[in-house]
Amino acid sequence: MRREERIRFALSIATDTKEFIMGEGVSEKAPSIFRQHFPGRKALILSDVHTWPALGEKLYGLFRKEGIPVEKYIIDKEEFHADWRYVEMTDHLAEGRFEKAREVENDPYYKEGSPEGPYGKAEYVLVSVGSGVINDLCKLSSSHHGQSYLTLPTAASVDGYSSFGASITYGGSKQTFSCPAPVAIIADMTVIASAPKEMSAAGYADLAAKVPAGAEWMISDFVGTEPIHADAWHVLQDHLDGFLSNPQGIAEGDPEAIADVFEGLTLSGIAMQAARSSRPASCCDHLFSHILDMTGWHYKGKLVSHGFQVAVGTLTMCAVFDQLFRLDLTKLDVERCVQAWPSLEEEQQRALELFRDFPLPKLGYTEMTKKYAPKEVVRTELAKLKAEWPEFREKLRRQVYPYEKMHALLKASGAPASPQDIGLTNAQIRDMFPLVQMMRFRYNVLDLAKRGCFYDEIVSPLFARGGVFEI
Ligand SMILES: [Zn+2]
Repeated sequence: MRREERIRFALSIATDTKEFIMGEGVSEKAPSIFRQHFPGRKALILSDVHTWPALGEKLYGLFRKEGIPVEKYIIDKEEFHADWRYVEMTDHLAEGRFEKAREVENDPYYKEGSPEGPYGKAEYVLVSVGSGVINDLCKLSSSHHGQSYLTLPTAASVDGYSSFGASITYGGSKQTFSCPAPVAIIADMTVIASAPKEMSAAGYADLAAKVPAGAEWMISDFVGTEPIHADAWHVLQDHLDGFLSNPQGIAEGDPEAIADVFEGLTLSGIAMQAARSSRPASCCDHLFSHILDMTGWHYKGKLVSHGFQVAVGTLTMCAVFDQLFRLDLTKLDVERCVQAWPSLEEEQQRALELFRDFPLPKLGYTEMTKKYAPKEVVRTELAKLKAEWPEFREKLRRQVYPYEKMHALLKASGAPASPQDIGLTNAQIRDMFPLVQMMRFRYNVLDLAKRGCFYDEIVSPLFARGGVFEI
């Protein structure tokens, strides 16, 4: 299937995005696309100190030339995270209070307001010029004002440009706030291909995460908690191997390889639109990253990018699946496992103990409570697993890459290929596992393993002598 056909299908299933164009120089079309979707409105271009010279300034000129009323705001920071402060800053911008926005941006005594608002009437339509963070700010703020926005990505670094929902840290916890994707994505490949190579490598890793994430979606489909949404599956998974096939090109800055990754990331976001959930794009692979976000992980004095964190989670999950495939679950002693299955109260207690020193001590308790299943359900799930294991294992095996393959791909792309590449020890990865299992309501491979009493068999070997993360 050619790119145009893939994009046509993607737009046919997208619920929010009406336009997705990619190619060299396509940012020239931004003013006319803006006018078409927002006739008579004023534009506010949001960028930062890097993306203003890369594209913002040119775009500002194009809007003015076309006679569209336009203002600009440049976030004055070398490094910033998707924190609530910047959402509030963007809300002020949309409502035309530029000085107040600057005040919030720099307020040393800033206190987070309520996500419920209230929000006023928007004076401007936001135009996002930047990577994942700026896009998420515009996405959430636009939804606060009941309007859409335009996004002009400046790097192939994340799949958030086209996704439903924005990943924002609020109250110390990284959360996905529900909000519609942009009406138009204008991907000027001249700009995207000249972004720093680490950003494309980060995007490559975020895309690679869809390999194990797909397998975990298959598992939740298998047990029936989150059935596979056919369009959301096919739009990306049918082409994923192809998009990931040129990691050297990513390391070398090859525009065609970067275009493939960018397209894959955008299709992933559209899969999330179609499914109205982040299930198509992430599972345990991303939870390792969420822990690092919530605990403010720095390496060499800097925050580690989303994609680089996810690279390590992805690699780890491929190693877990390698171990899973070694098991013969046709021999599973279902009744023994059902007898051993803890009560809800025991699980809640375990969660409270595990998360005691975590920034959000109740997180495990809350999420575990949502996904707890009684003994009868566990019995049904395990009986099905035992009966269908040979075929199901083959299905999963066709989806997931072995650790060795994922390691080679990530390494070739320039993304991290070991925990040490982002400053983590193998023991830190080991210690994150129990949290990863419990920190999200979503059914994952570790939940299946806990129910089937084979958790230690798929996790411990990673850290044992000769294991991929030997301690
Ligand atoms: Zn991601």
